[in-house]
Amino acid sequence: MNHDLVIIGAGPGGYIAAIRAAQLGLNVACIEKERMLGGTCLRVGCIPSKALLESSELYKEAEHSFKDRGINVGSLSLDLDKMLSQKDRTVKTMGGGIDSLFKKNKITRYTGHATITAPGKVSVDNGEEKTELEAKYILIATGSEPSTLPGIELDGDRVGTSTEALAYDQVPKHLVVIGGGVIGLELGAVWSRLGAKVTVLEYLDRILPTTDLEIAKEAQKIFEKQGIEFQLGCRVTGVKANKKTCDVEIADAKSIRCDRVLVAVGRRPNTENLGLEEIGIALDKRGFIPVNAHYETAVKGIFAIGDVIGGAMLAHKAEDEGVAFSERLVTGYGHVNYDAIPSVAYTNPEIAAVGKTEEQLKEEGIEYRKGTFPFIANGRARAMGQTEGKVKMLADKQTDRVLGVHILGPRAGDLIAECAVAMEFGASSEDIARCCHAHPTLAEAVKEAALAVDKRALNF
Ligand code: FAD
Ligand code: NAD
Repeated sequence: MNHDLVIIGAGPGGYIAAIRAAQLGLNVACIEKERMLGGTCLRVGCIPSKALLESSELYKEAEHSFKDRGINVGSLSLDLDKMLSQKDRTVKTMGGGIDSLFKKNKITRYTGHATITAPGKVSVDNGEEKTELEAKYILIATGSEPSTLPGIELDGDRVGTSTEALAYDQVPKHLVVIGGGVIGLELGAVWSRLGAKVTVLEYLDRILPTTDLEIAKEAQKIFEKQGIEFQLGCRVTGVKANKKTCDVEIADAKSIRCDRVLVAVGRRPNTENLGLEEIGIALDKRGFIPVNAHYETAVKGIFAIGDVIGGAMLAHKAEDEGVAFSERLVTGYGHVNYDAIPSVAYTNPEIAAVGKTEEQLKEEGIEYRKGTFPFIANGRARAMGQTEGKVKMLADKQTDRVLGVHILGPRAGDLIAECAVAMEFGASSEDIARCCHAHPTLAEAVKEAALAVDKRALNF
């Protein structure tokens, strides 16, 4: 079969690149080894985790916050099976949505494992037969999978990754999370809210290593108040799983007995059996596929985007690379501004950021002014009863151009969009401060932080 473009992997990178290329008139095929389209993000990542975060948060609120507002819900109980089914239904419906988008855009879908046999040639193996495809261009968007640690055998039961932690059939009594990154905190929060004791073991002396330090420290204090335990500077050396319990062994400290272990120490790129070495694509030291500014690999006509090329492992980064790749291929133009990619941890409160942290600015010797505004002084946050956290804005000392915004607080993930747009347009803090923000909204905290850069916050 001949196509203009064959894409390997139908995650947010691959399926969005496919749609954009088809919109631009290419004959596109997309190969996915799983039956459902949507990749890690839809199957076992962004969407199922957010469904559980939402449900567990509602449960927690019903347990604690409703009464304060005069809402009596009677006796509260948890139907975990139903909660998990709601998550599964959400995923399935969205998977069907991508099927429809493929049909609408006339994208040919192949199911099976893809191997590149030569430049312009891909073989698809579905376990029963092989289909040979030819294409002018090939795009690798095979994503990533969970990493593990030496001394830890993932048994898919007591000791597992985020995939298992999205589907525990019972609330763990004691869940030990190895890794205080985004997955550890989001899924730790889910099970903590549903009643598990949660202990997070982090190798570094801080959680969320890429987050602004002041924000990460404040977030940790809040999570501790919510009942999550943290052990920082903690090197796990192994896990011994028994039938009903596990022992997590830590260098120079007492081991911890628990009933579930979630290993969340990062993700590694999916490059196995793709045929890369045979066609002359060498991986970098960390196993990622090196590409140039146009996402082209060392072999002409073969490109790569998304988690498999490294950088921030985020769905929207993969999507934007997919769009930029397809547009560049057809029109000659296509660009991702890596300085304005937001990131969000969907904890409660949420943690969202765009641009540089204070530590990065110091390290790079960039002079800046800083404005902060606490949610406790924001009317909407008060009305919501969610007053923890703050907005912190960093702007260039000379030009006032916004260099970074860091938000810990309610709906931080939605608030950061305004800041990303502002940074994309090269806005100054004064620009944001002069824009009218509706009252009473959480977004007013962003405006006030912008005013605070010039030491003229009005409500604090
Ligand atoms: P993937 O989504 O990994 O897709 C790659 C696809 O390629 C897979 O479907 C795979 O089956 C297929 N594939 C691989 N090899 C082959 C082959 N040889 N042949 C055929 N098919 C192949 N990011 C966010 O931005 N927001 C979030 O809230 C968020 N939450 C997350 C929560 C969890 C628990 C996890 C694990 C991740 C989360 N992420 C989140 C990260 C996000 O899922 C990834 O960054 C994103 O999915 C990367 O997209 P991708 O297209 O590069 O790869
Ligand atoms: P991560 O890189 O965010 O965090 C891993 C953590 O594990 C780090 O803090 C690291 O210091 C720690 N660690 C590493 N080795 C350790 C060891 N031996 N012992 C103890 N701690 C150790 O990785 P993750 O949380 O697994 O997430 C993987 C990727 O998925 C991330 O890149 C993230 O961007 C993406 N993701 C994003 C979201 C979101 O955007 N909301 C949600 C989930 C996952």
